[in-house]
Amino acid sequence: MEKTFLKTSRLNQFLETLRLFGELHGPTVSESGVHRFSQLHDPAELQLDYRRTQIPPKKYLLPFREEILHYASGSYSEGYAGAGDLVLFGVHSCDLEGIAYLDRVFLAEPVDTGYATRRSRLTLIGISCEPDDFCFCTEGMESSSCDLFLDAVADGFHLSSHSARGTALLTAAEQLLEEGPPPVPRPSGPRLLPQDPQLRFSEHPLWRKFASTCVSCGACSVCCPTCYCFDVREYPSLSGGGTRIREWDNCLFASHGEVAGANLRPDRLDRLRYRFLHKYCGFTPLQGVTSCVGCGRCKEVCPVGIDLRELTAPPEREER
Ligand code: SF4
Ligand code: SF4
Repeated sequence: MEKTFLKTSRLNQFLETLRLFGELHGPTVSESGVHRFSQLHDPAELQLDYRRTQIPPKKYLLPFREEILHYASGSYSEGYAGAGDLVLFGVHSCDLEGIAYLDRVFLAEPVDTGYATRRSRLTLIGISCEPDDFCFCTEGMESSSCDLFLDAVADGFHLSSHSARGTALLTAAEQLLEEGPPPVPRPSGPRLLPQDPQLRFSEHPLWRKFASTCVSCGACSVCCPTCYCFDVREYPSLSGGGTRIREWDNCLFASHGEVAGANLRPDRLDRLRYRFLHKYCGFTPLQGVTSCVGCGRCKEVCPVGIDLRELTAPPEREER
């Protein structure tokens, strides 16, 4: 039998081994009580019982703001701040799927240089989780979109490798591993897949209901592991040079639809519908997957409690 079982008592040693592969980050909690991914200076900072971080791991691959070009008179240089090797530990399956989704977008031709560089230096260690009421992923499913996955059981973790880097991690940690009990299969949960997009996404009264309370704060997009809209801004300097900045944008903002003096989505209802159309009807025919991984963040952060799971409920009759 293969030695792929890590006792909980050896987790701290395992984390030290991971540091050989890059700067170690994982789920922690901020002073204000917000769960986040950040550098793990001490294993005691690790919050393995977290449900979801406020900001997903996309922040490691798509910085909120980055300089992508710097130019001066007669010369220019591309920005893309160099990232070192980074090991992200304790990522749940939904967030791993979120990164797999971003890979489809940013590693397809034309490849995004900055994303590709950061992605190549990122080692992903997934971990199983316990869903709460906000989750609607394929719960309990082990994700293969990582280098190594830890399936938690009573007194330890079953480790499985999903890449050459994952196998190298297993080899480096060999002394800490032992034979363990066979893993217990986890049940798969339902995936949010509207069965009839035309019905759900046409003039459905749900849109008016959502738009009547949405405050266009954009939080649902900021926290979404698959939302990647960005804006590119130019900041020329009086001395003749300048910088080009790429930063997160947000399709819930009125400015997002502005093109050449016109606004393609001036109404809140249009913007809400646009976001969900993209999630469930836009990307799906192209790649065969929806761009929602069921992490539940958007429902949790929405100040007015808008819940896109209502889209899968039987349609309400319109009141006359
Ligand atoms: S749409 Fe909501 S539930 Fe789906 S991936 Fe984005 S934040 Fe998570
Ligand atoms: S978080 Fe809620 S209120 Fe804010 S933009 Fe999204 S749907 Fe609207």
